[in-house]
Amino acid sequence: MKVLVINAGSSSLKYQFFNMSNESVLASGNVERIGMDSSIVTHYPVDKPEVREVSEILDHVTAVKRVAEMLTHPEFGTITHLNEIDAVGHRVVHGGEAFSSSVLVTQAVKDEIRRLFDLAPLHNPAHMMGITAVETTLPDVPQVVVFDTAFHQTMPNTSYLYPIPTVLYRRHKVRRYGFHGTSHSYVSDQAAEFLQKPLESLKMITCHIGNGASLAAILDGKSLDTSMGMTPLEGLMMGTRSGDLDPAIVPYVMNKEELTLSEVNSMLNKHSGMLAVSGISSDMREVTEAMNEGDKNAKLAFDMYTYRVKKYIGAYAAAMNGLDTLVFTAGVGENSVVFRQAVCEGISFLGVELDHARNAERRKDAREISTEGSRVKVLVVPTNEELLIARDTYRIVNQVKLQ
Ligand code: ADP
Repeated sequence: MKVLVINAGSSSLKYQFFNMSNESVLASGNVERIGMDSSIVTHYPVDKPEVREVSEILDHVTAVKRVAEMLTHPEFGTITHLNEIDAVGHRVVHGGEAFSSSVLVTQAVKDEIRRLFDLAPLHNPAHMMGITAVETTLPDVPQVVVFDTAFHQTMPNTSYLYPIPTVLYRRHKVRRYGFHGTSHSYVSDQAAEFLQKPLESLKMITCHIGNGASLAAILDGKSLDTSMGMTPLEGLMMGTRSGDLDPAIVPYVMNKEELTLSEVNSMLNKHSGMLAVSGISSDMREVTEAMNEGDKNAKLAFDMYTYRVKKYIGAYAAAMNGLDTLVFTAGVGENSVVFRQAVCEGISFLGVELDHARNAERRKDAREISTEGSRVKVLVVPTNEELLIARDTYRIVNQVKLQ
């Protein structure tokens, strides 16, 4: 079975095409600047040179058609006919309380995703355009949706409720949902497999640290708590997002600076975090480089960033009454040696002991970076959200065929 995985944004569409018999990627690519001048399609077929095309792509239907043409192109395609695409899996950011696992797309599922537009106004409408575009271009192909929030639906109400008037939860569903669930789920499974232990037997913290960043406390194989909240703004300090702050700062700053709701929203989401504190960049590589050259603000940004991760690890260890596995993943978590060192330093009381030589190794596979004697196993596990989406899609479509 061959599965196409799509991550549709408002003006972009990323894709990966899998052969599920061996879970290999046959091709991948992205369409950028949908609806703008000079849209760009970049297609990476495995074992063939990449193809880059500039054309006018006004909507998602045209974008999916271009992807289909790329996949079946006589020269750089990987299949000869569209009927070789057996299923399509979509990433959907918000599944609200309605979805605690991936599901086959039906009319009822689409209606529910539409009802959730309010909770993820930048993401869910774009995902919906992707789903509709596939319906138009590949009308007979079953589609599955995989939600970023689904993995965290196991959180108890002590984790997901905010201490504000409960009417806000009842009326408007104001609660913690959490995000990066696909990644937390994938790396926690991989970590358990690496350790050759059942996930249910582990007290695990997974740290997904990329441009966006979140931690999850995983107990009995289930998400007990996670640092992102109703939106992906809460929790850790991120590339351009503030993460946790005193909520009273928002009205105070709005008043002092005469900011509108949309301006303050943009300040907290796009102009805060590492970018604001370093004054240099939201990118960990650039901040680390500046810090190594002696830039004080870059050092402060790095120190605040790592300090906040460390605080959450302590909090989640307390929430689980213990910790035996700590996992790093995503751009920063997988690649930054100094980041992992700064986070793990000074938490030996929890049983975390980093092996500096192992931590410094540059490898692409799942690996242990703690010392032999470390009570907590510290692992680096590369995330692969697309593969998890492909696996869920494959499983669900096969189940439906068997019914
Ligand atoms: P996104 O959340 O957009 O998927 P990624 O998971 O790709 O983000 O992570 C992007 C972050 O990873 C950037 O801050 C980048 O600097 C960092 N990063 C990527 N490679 C390295 C590296 N070799 N060393 C340090 N940081 C890195």
